[in-house]
Amino acid sequence: MSEPSAPAVATRPVPKPWIAAIHPYVPGKSTGTNGQVLIKLSANENPLGTSPLARAARLGTGEGAGDPARYPDPESHALRGALGALHGIDPARIVMGTGSDELLHLAAQAFAGPGDEVLYQRYGFSVYEIAARRCGADPVEAPDRDYAADVDVLLGCVTPRTRVVFLANPNNPTGSYLARAELARLHAALPADVLLVVDQAYAEYLGGDDEDGAMALTAATENVLITRTFSKIYGLAGERVGWATGAPHLIDMLNRIRGPFNLTITAQAAALAALGDQAFVAASREHNRAERARFVGALAALGNHGLRPLPSEANFVLIEFSGALTAEAAYKGLMDNGFITRWLPGQGLPQCLRITIGTAAEMDRVAAVLRQMAEAAR
Ligand SMILES: *Cc1c(COP(=O)(O)O)cnc(C)c1O
Repeated sequence: MSEPSAPAVATRPVPKPWIAAIHPYVPGKSTGTNGQVLIKLSANENPLGTSPLARAARLGTGEGAGDPARYPDPESHALRGALGALHGIDPARIVMGTGSDELLHLAAQAFAGPGDEVLYQRYGFSVYEIAARRCGADPVEAPDRDYAADVDVLLGCVTPRTRVVFLANPNNPTGSYLARAELARLHAALPADVLLVVDQAYAEYLGGDDEDGAMALTAATENVLITRTFSKIYGLAGERVGWATGAPHLIDMLNRIRGPFNLTITAQAAALAALGDQAFVAASREHNRAERARFVGALAALGNHGLRPLPSEANFVLIEFSGALTAEAAYKGLMDNGFITRWLPGQGLPQCLRITIGTAAEMDRVAAVLRQMAEAAR
């Protein structure tokens, strides 16, 4: 019929198929469908804002504020020093990132590529799939156990091709948490050449510095990397500051491929000042603990309407809807009442709504709106 086909000539640049397969990350919204400004409970930001010390440092008028005509310190010396002092880590074992997001991508890219597998739990943080695809590796999703990670299920998904395992602890969007003994069991059963990335974006909400034992693992082993962020309890999401710690050979690889000036002068100054205000961190943790408990308590009364808050150790609660009131209807109803929350059909969670813990007044109002809607639903 047709002539032997000549090689197709592309008329424009052809993306790599693994890049074209990526669904872009969906950020939490701050406006409603018709553009109205809403109270934002969709991105797990700190309802208490930012430490005044960090705000002042951002303005950058003081000594050492830095000259914007000059590049920032490429190694964030002062900030890594302060992080090392606070957490008892040699600063040489710390690498900074433009948010922990950059570091999650670098970890995948440094240790996985085409033909390799990157493993994480179903309902894990949505960046992991993007990070896997971005470096050409195959993303592998381990089934959850009632929305949480299960060590045996995860281990059952490890193959000779597995190169990186991502675990957010606590996890976003579920809020689930793997206790120290379980994390130790996961690590102990992983092959030594598999990198375990423990994403501790919400670790400060737990209290102690090493609740899940990952910090000790990074010090004692060669295949564990922790990522942390200033975006959550430190209230600096807009400045994009994250960090990672692990064995020197891991940090060395990330340093080779990170942006050389990946933290702006302002970001370094703000994060350094924020670290110095641990009273703000403690107050944020306490606020979250109290308001989360109160909110979950209010939701308990709606159990007969099919609302189930999943156990959360983070600064948000994922609610499962199985009654007449659907998650979608609740999402829209909350929006009509001025709140933007996170409905996650794109992550396989059309039956759930993730709500960030806000101020006491906000949580009272959200609970009241949910109750009205649940009681009105048929
Ligand atoms: C919010 C969040 C992060 C933080 O990302 P940044 O790039 O540091 O703002 C990382 N991991 C998880 C699981 C998160 O929820």
